[in-house]
Amino acid sequence: MNMTQNRILLCEDEENIVAFLRAELEYENFRVDVAPDGETATRLFSAGEYDCILLDVMLPEKNGLEILREIRKTHRTPVIMVTARKEVFDKVTFLNAGADDYVTKPFDTLELIARIKRNISRGAGAQTAPQGHGLYICKESYRAYFADNEIKLTKTEFEILAFLFDHAEKVKTREEIIRAVFGDFYGESNIVDANVKNIRAKLAAYTQQEVIHTVRGKGYYLTAIMR
Ligand code: CA
Repeated sequence: MNMTQNRILLCEDEENIVAFLRAELEYENFRVDVAPDGETATRLFSAGEYDCILLDVMLPEKNGLEILREIRKTHRTPVIMVTARKEVFDKVTFLNAGADDYVTKPFDTLELIARIKRNISRGAGAQTAPQGHGLYICKESYRAYFADNEIKLTKTEFEILAFLFDHAEKVKTREEIIRAVFGDFYGESNIVDANVKNIRAKLAAYTQQEVIHTVRGKGYYLTAIMR
């Protein structure tokens, strides 16, 4: 009946959560592999093709943040972080490291499954890069392309680029960018400079043109030539 089963890598060490989630996910017709520790998680995601990775933050051997960073070196697979309330890492840390989503324990299973499905459909929609020249931003999949080459951006880099793209040719201040990207997060405004520097370096692999311009004392703008 169902042609393809989506594959989930469930990185979780709590046996009762594993047993419960596995049953729920299999009921939803997912294929589930389980990694009960960080080493197994690394081994499985490098060997297998997964449509979504559920990543518990507190795992034996390696924590979820370390694993997330390893995944993001080579894979754009959607990653949903599963965090406990009292953990030291915050949301921004995970998003900066490239997580697509996160849930807090105890989570609502139906909500988690809905998030898994949403993240998988985002990922699937971007598997074929659009044809064309210049910059292309796909907000559904959180991917950016230049001349059909995917530019591997962190979530923050993507959001800054997408914001400047939406306001092409208009100067945006660092504060406006922070507000747009982080919402209520009050960070150092040099977080914008650092991210813009990274985006420029990544774009430089595909174009000689200056895509993001600096306006001294004001902020940044993106040229509309690539639209
Ligand atoms: Ca755990």
